[in-house]
Amino acid sequence: MKLTELFASDKLSLSFEVFPPKTDTAFESVKTATEEIAKLHPSFMSVTYGAGGGTSQYTLDIAKNIKETQGVPTLAHLTCVSSTRETVHQRIADMKAAGIENVMALRGDLTPELQNSDRSGWIYRHAVDLIRELKESGADFCIGGACYPEIHPESSDQAEDIRHLKEKVDAGCSFLTTQMFFDNNLLYNFLYKIREAGITVPVIPGIMPITNAKQVARSIQLSGSFMPQRFKSLVDKFGSSPAAMKQAGIAYATDQIIDLYANGIKNVHVYSMNNPDVARKIQSNLSDILG
Ligand code: FAD
Repeated sequence: MKLTELFASDKLSLSFEVFPPKTDTAFESVKTATEEIAKLHPSFMSVTYGAGGGTSQYTLDIAKNIKETQGVPTLAHLTCVSSTRETVHQRIADMKAAGIENVMALRGDLTPELQNSDRSGWIYRHAVDLIRELKESGADFCIGGACYPEIHPESSDQAEDIRHLKEKVDAGCSFLTTQMFFDNNLLYNFLYKIREAGITVPVIPGIMPITNAKQVARSIQLSGSFMPQRFKSLVDKFGSSPAAMKQAGIAYATDQIIDLYANGIKNVHVYSMNNPDVARKIQSNLSDILG
């Protein structure tokens, strides 16, 4: 199923993101965890793409397994940074062979190694280049792109970031998924600005349940997200007790999701980090709301 069909519906929906294993030995445990999440029958599941592409086949194996064993629609991520045209075309062929209909087209992070490498021969400098390549391939994927309510760390200002976002949408993105955020007002302000800039495609907020104190520093470092005082107090109070922190983090994420639904957002994506228990509890907290 193409995700545009889901986003056209008025029904509220919840979806989950999982990540592929990094090694062969981890494959079975990741497969089992992702199947457990799929058994909750979310509206779709996204499977990320390992930085550098070394685990690209796992992304497809996990996505295919979820779709075939549990009937859950999937969204396979693909990055293009430092890739050759041959590699990208091979990935497109692999995705078609795996029956993938939905692709999240990303640039990928510029690691320090990549930043210091010779970039003169790169043909994919930004996600928009990959989106154009996917479109030109004639593969008929439903294509998504990433967006940043708190602006991408490389952008000098939000107006520039939104200009580039509009280029991605004009190139063929049918929907956008956001970077995590912990203050919904940031999303509402962002939505207002992108709608004003003429970006009309569905925007799917990405919510990260923070369920242990270590994750806080890592998530902020990766995303640069603003931590509201309400959230900091919760980490200060419960961070040293794993069970209490997990419960509080799930409650905070649930509260964010309910506020999003209450303010007209129909589809919410949860960064479930391959944790079936967290996914199950969030879904259960929303059972009557989702109907
Ligand atoms: P782009 O859209 O290319 O944007 C990157 C920066 O370049 C921005 O500052 C933008 O304003 C600027 N820019 C864009 N176009 C132009 C242009 N034409 N000229 C000049 N500047 C331009 N990483 C992974 O490795 N695997 C994943 O599976 C993955 N999934 C993700 C899912 C989501 C929802 C999000 C939000 C991020 C994900 N990432 C993933 C991380 C992502 O790869 C990084 O955030 C990366 O730094 C930017 O990717 P992008 O696709 O947003 O890049």
